[in-house]
Amino acid sequence: MTVLQGLGVSEGIAFGPVVRVGRGVRPPESEPTSPDAEARIREAFESVALDLDSRLGSVDDTAAAILSATAMLARDPSLIDGAIARAAAGSGPATAIDGATREFMEQFIALGGYFAERATDLRDVGDRAIAAVLGAPAPGVPPLAEECVLVAYDLAPAETATLDRTKVLGIITEAGGRTSHTAILAAQMGIPAVVKVAEAAEFVDGDLVMIDGDIGSVHLRPEQATVDARRARNARRADALSHLSGPGSTLDGKQVKLLANIGGVEDAVAAGKCDVEGVGLFRTEFVFLSAQTAPTVEEQTETYRQVFAPFDGRRVVVRTLDAGADKPLAFADLGAEENPALGRRGLRLSAERPDLLDAQLEALSIAATDTGADVWVMAPMVADAQEAAWFARRVRENGLRNVGVMIEIPAAALRSTHVLAEVDFGSLGTNDLAQYTMAADRMQGELAELLDPWQPAVLDVIAEACRGAAINGKPMGVCGESAGDALMALVLAGLGCSSLSMAPARVPLVRFALSRHTFAQCQRLAHLARSARTASDAREAVRAEVSADLAAIL
Ligand code: PEP
Ligand code: MG
Repeated sequence: MTVLQGLGVSEGIAFGPVVRVGRGVRPPESEPTSPDAEARIREAFESVALDLDSRLGSVDDTAAAILSATAMLARDPSLIDGAIARAAAGSGPATAIDGATREFMEQFIALGGYFAERATDLRDVGDRAIAAVLGAPAPGVPPLAEECVLVAYDLAPAETATLDRTKVLGIITEAGGRTSHTAILAAQMGIPAVVKVAEAAEFVDGDLVMIDGDIGSVHLRPEQATVDARRARNARRADALSHLSGPGSTLDGKQVKLLANIGGVEDAVAAGKCDVEGVGLFRTEFVFLSAQTAPTVEEQTETYRQVFAPFDGRRVVVRTLDAGADKPLAFADLGAEENPALGRRGLRLSAERPDLLDAQLEALSIAATDTGADVWVMAPMVADAQEAAWFARRVRENGLRNVGVMIEIPAAALRSTHVLAEVDFGSLGTNDLAQYTMAADRMQGELAELLDPWQPAVLDVIAEACRGAAINGKPMGVCGESAGDALMALVLAGLGCSSLSMAPARVPLVRFALSRHTFAQCQRLAHLARSARTASDAREAVRAEVSADLAAIL
């Protein structure tokens, strides 16, 4: 048995035979030119786009938005024209598609951030188009006859979004990162996943593997006893979790609301049926990823009504468009930037396009009035008190009551006493807060260690943000992926966070963890974590001190 370590991005145990996701056929060596190359290239890209379109009806909103965005790439005129130009210059059609795709990928990778992540999508589109032009089967996930663990270099979000959940027990990728959209989707779908396992390149079809998405381990050909022990732990966990339900609170009754992260109507419907106290983060930009023109107030109102409806009486925290950088929207494009993660994104983009913000706030206000949901509205990427005040005024002018800000820029965290004075609540976006605190691109898998929210420096910044919230008597929640880590949830509660928002599948274990510790114990765990020297020391210090019944099911 070999034990490999990767990054656990979606919790749970999976055990089964490997099925490798193919990289697709390559263009033949010295491929001859083709007289009808232009028509064949256009047809190949269009067939890729149509294939992606045809899957839209059978997936949820988040997945549909990702599929549409990928189909858009396949219809990108500059990509198609680039391939046609290469064919005109003498390349065979598949070679021309490959060359144009690679050229674009290199440009995307050089841009970094969001664009670098899109390189995987582009490669997927290119591989599909090459297969189409050669008449070969489409690359990607093969038809699955049995339950299996998928192993891939990386999965394009379009592939993750359309996985057959009844057959895919787990996912292992050689590349990827903790907050890539593939990781977020796997967690949302409740499929255990471990990314950044370079050695997985050696796995072959049929190899038996066990993955633990909580701790990021991969056992290749595990002993039966190891599998049995993990299975027994899983059964213990299922049993322990089944006895608890309802609002989150510590052992001594301090309330910590347990909320869901959602990206659209389907997510809302699914989360609405879960035992959660509402929504802590509705990523509204996910709904409009494929929109070419700004959605009208009427269109938005209808979407928001459908999102709010399942949460009658419960809280729904809506984040206004977080466009730009890793989530560009065609209708809110301010042009290329050297460094999009530090550019005019999030609230900065809203300041330049207040028309977009006003239309969204108007739609939210109408939908909130029409449904019984308790709608809260917050801004992404707020840097200082002045921005918070500007946003709060605009939201209140639209008749919306609860205004908040995401705390995901260290400046806002360090000055939260002033920032929180302007609004009603704060929500820590630990994905970006880690990225900006550690100066490490969240899309860069190689930097995962720096991006770890257990980094004591990140915990210090969170603590400071919570201190400012407490001074103002305002609630501070967490909606970054760290809120769904049961050990981290204890630390966050100890630092004073009053709500935790996560993929709904993560709620039961977090609820259990909180219920087994008093607030004072959570404070002590937070102190231990902040006193550690490294991220792994912090995590291990906390793990060693949690209650025996939690430790038994971790
Ligand atoms: C975050 O940054 O932690 C967050 C919740 O927002 P997103 O992942 O959408 O940037
Ligand atoms: Mg963010």
